Amino acid sequence: MLKIILKNGKERSLLNFHPWLFSGAIAKIIGTAEEGAIAQVFDAQQQPLAIGHFYPKGSIAVRIFHFGSDVPRLDTDFWAQKIRQAFELRRTLGLADSSHTTAYRLVHAEGDNLPGLIVDIYGDTAVLQIQTSGMERIKNEIAAALVLVLDTRLQRIYDKENGIYLWQRDPADTHDEGIVTEYNLRFYAHWKEGQKTGFFLDQRDNRRLLQSYCAGKTVLNAFSYSGGFSVYALAAGAARVDSVDVSQKAITWANQNVALNGGSERHRGIAADCFEYLRQIHDEYEVIVLDPPAFAKHKSAESKAAQGYKQINLQAFRHIRAGGFLFTFSCSQVITRDLFRKIVFAAAADSKRKVRIVQQLGQSNDHPINIYHPEGDYLKGLALQVE
Ligand code: SAH
Repeated sequence: MLKIILKNGKERSLLNFHPWLFSGAIAKIIGTAEEGAIAQVFDAQQQPLAIGHFYPKGSIAVRIFHFGSDVPRLDTDFWAQKIRQAFELRRTLGLADSSHTTAYRLVHAEGDNLPGLIVDIYGDTAVLQIQTSGMERIKNEIAAALVLVLDTRLQRIYDKENGIYLWQRDPADTHDEGIVTEYNLRFYAHWKEGQKTGFFLDQRDNRRLLQSYCAGKTVLNAFSYSGGFSVYALAAGAARVDSVDVSQKAITWANQNVALNGGSERHRGIAADCFEYLRQIHDEYEVIVLDPPAFAKHKSAESKAAQGYKQINLQAFRHIRAGGFLFTFSCSQVITRDLFRKIVFAAAADSKRKVRIVQQLGQSNDHPINIYHPEGDYLKGLALQVE
């Protein structure tokens, strides 16, 4: 195992259980410093502190998955224990083994003490999103651990990053998508062809919340992807729902998801750029959902992203009927909650509308945030009433 010795006094963040060790804290590396290698971290007095995956490039040098001075055997059982803990939380939350919801996030990276790993469950399918070379190296152990914990619930494990199945109970299995339920509504999960792991689970509770605002209303679901918010709005009795997404495939899937829930003449799927769509239309909606992609993936893109968010929110304010509601989101990690609110404030001011915050929103509870890793609080949302 690689040995990493910290500079004097630089052990603070690890003693505080922060899962990232920055390269500036390192005094010495003993061993072959390969990317993704397993490393034990010691303080300047050679006291062992933690174990994680090492990255020679970039500012995050070690992503910690084990705190403490001991050196456990990093076998299937070790990973299974972490996954079991994550599974028990989802059971407590009423998601795992639920009768109304069969899709949930089982592992949320740092939030479940497994930096670099996301596991989403779609019925009997586990979909891995591997974000680091450290996790890439141990993905087969992770797959074995998933089979151990989920047992007969599982039929297949798909590795989204590499586009391969890591495990299939039936070797003749040909499922590349499946139907899942969320609060008894039905959706296709396109784990092979879809964005991210196939479906946006982080919006589950916000989709449900939207329902109480929708009965009899005209609704625009901007950046709709496969129509998650639209299906909920229709089920709640919305008068009309327009799903707009730049991807034709997303719109096809939105139409399919509406059909899967009984179909609706009240729904229109529109393949268009949302900026352009809002610039061109003259209609007003009573409820608008804005859930754009992460405009900024890195700190350097922050100001450009802020402009994007401001622009799209301004357009939305211009198309909301008096008394209507805007559900606006940002999933960019680099845009903080505070900054997002300021951006929406600026858009509201430019639109010269009176706006009040009705509710502050975030990611659903199967995306827990490690309190020592505030970066995990990535989905920010505001439910606003516009006079
Ligand atoms: N709200 C969705 C998830 C949205 S993901 C849900 O609950 O499932 C963001 C979506 O924005 C993606 O589907 C992407 O295709 C779409 N998108 C990206 N840029 C866009 C643009 N300029 N106009 C319209 N859609 C866009």
